Amino acid sequence: MLTAEDLQFDRQHIWHPYTSMIDPLPCYPVVSAQGSTLTLADGRTLTEGMSSWWAAIHGYNHPRLNKAMTDQIHRMSHVMFGGITHLPAIELSRKLVRITPDGLDKVFLADSGSVAVEVAMKMAVQFYSGDRLPRKKFMTIRHGYHGDTFAAMSVCDPENSMHALWKGYLPEHLFAPAPRSRFDGCWQDGEMDEAEQLLKVHHSSLAAVILEPVVQGAGGMRFYHPGYLRRMRELCDHYGVLLIADEIATGFGRTGRLFACEHAGITPDILCLGKGLTGGTMTLSAVLTREQVAEKISLSPAGCFMHGPTFMGNPLACAVACASIELLEEGHWSSQVAAIERQLCADLMPLKSHPQVADVRVLGAIGVVECHQPVKMAEIQQFFVDQGVWIRPFGRLIYLMPPYIIQPQELAQLTAAIRKAVEHPELFSD
Ligand code: PMP
Repeated sequence: MLTAEDLQFDRQHIWHPYTSMIDPLPCYPVVSAQGSTLTLADGRTLTEGMSSWWAAIHGYNHPRLNKAMTDQIHRMSHVMFGGITHLPAIELSRKLVRITPDGLDKVFLADSGSVAVEVAMKMAVQFYSGDRLPRKKFMTIRHGYHGDTFAAMSVCDPENSMHALWKGYLPEHLFAPAPRSRFDGCWQDGEMDEAEQLLKVHHSSLAAVILEPVVQGAGGMRFYHPGYLRRMRELCDHYGVLLIADEIATGFGRTGRLFACEHAGITPDILCLGKGLTGGTMTLSAVLTREQVAEKISLSPAGCFMHGPTFMGNPLACAVACASIELLEEGHWSSQVAAIERQLCADLMPLKSHPQVADVRVLGAIGVVECHQPVKMAEIQQFFVDQGVWIRPFGRLIYLMPPYIIQPQELAQLTAAIRKAVEHPELFSD
C-alpha cells in the first residue's frame, strides 16, 4: 500500500527525469499496469499513450514476456559474460542478426540506449585507431537525440541538450542542418549541400556520421525524407566514413517498418537498438556491426574492443528480448501499427487547421501535434490524468506512441484528450 508518506519521501529524496529537487513536478503513483492501462494508487486507470517512452510495444504484463522472465529467473538471473556464455544471449544475437538489415552480423549486448551509443561511437573510433591518421570526430544532424551520457550528449542537438553548459568537457563535433524534406513531402534538391560540404572538408578526421534514421525523436519528433538517409549512406561510402544508425527509438516496428533504415533500403555500418528490445520490461541494448568493422577493431592496437560492462548480456533481459522478438515475428505488429497509423491520421489530422496547432504529423504508431506555444507541464499532465489518459508532452509537442496492442476505443480516448487539450489556452505558455 502506497502512503502519503511514501510520496513525501519521493518528493524529498528521489530524482525523477529532468525535474527540480527543490520544486519537483508532481508524480503520479502507479501500482500496476496491464495491456494499455496504468492503474494509479487511488484506483483510477489511465490509457497509456507513451509505451513508457517507446519501450512497452506489446503492452504491459504480457503473459509471454512474463513467462520468459520467470522461466529464466529459475535458471539464472545473471551471470558474468567475461569467459562465460549462455543460451539467452546466443538466441537473442541469432535473432538480431536475422531480423536486422543484411550485413550486420556482429552483436554487442549493452545495458541501455545511451550506453549503446557510447559503444557504437567507441567502435568507430577504435576502427580507425590503427590508421596513420586516427579519427576522433563525428558528424551528426541538428535536432538529434542520442542519450544523456557524455559521448551520446555530444552528438545531441547542441541547443536542446545545452552544450554551452558542458563547454570544455564535452567533445565538439560537427553538426549538419536538420533534414528539411518531410517524410510525406517532396525531396528538396540541395537539401544536403551543407552536410556534403562538411564531409568533403572534414572526412579525414571523421570516424562516423551518427543519426536517427527517418524519425528524430526526443530532439523534436521530426519525420524526414528517406532520400536523406539514402544520400547520407552514399556520401559516407564515397568519403570512407562509417555510418551509425541509432534505432533505439525507431527499431522493432514503431515507424511501420521493422527498422526505420528499411524505409531507405540501407544498411548502416553500426546499428544501435534498445527500448522496445525487451518489450519494455528490462533495460538492455544491442549494437550490431559488419564483419569488416569487427575485424578491423580486432586488428587495431588494442587487439580487441575495449568495453565490457558488468551486466553485459544479462540472461534475464536476453530471455525476455527473445520472447519479445518472437511476438513480433508472429506478425501482428505490422497490421496493428498500420491500423494505429490510420486512426491517428483520421483523429489528429483535422487539428492541422486549429489556431493552437502548428503542425500534425503521423508515421506508423507515432502521432505528433506540434503546438505554437510550449505546454505548461504540470497543468497539462494533470489535465490528461483527469481525462483518464497518460500522455507526457514536452516543449511544444504533444505526441502519442501507444503500445501496438492498443484497442481502437482506447486510442480514440487518447486522441480525444489531445483534441480537448488544445481547446484550453490555460494549458499553454504565452
Ligand atoms: N537514442 C535515442 C534515439 C533515444 O530516443 C534514446 C532515449 N530516448 C536514447 C538513445 C537513450 O536511451 P536510454 O534512455 O535508454 O539511455
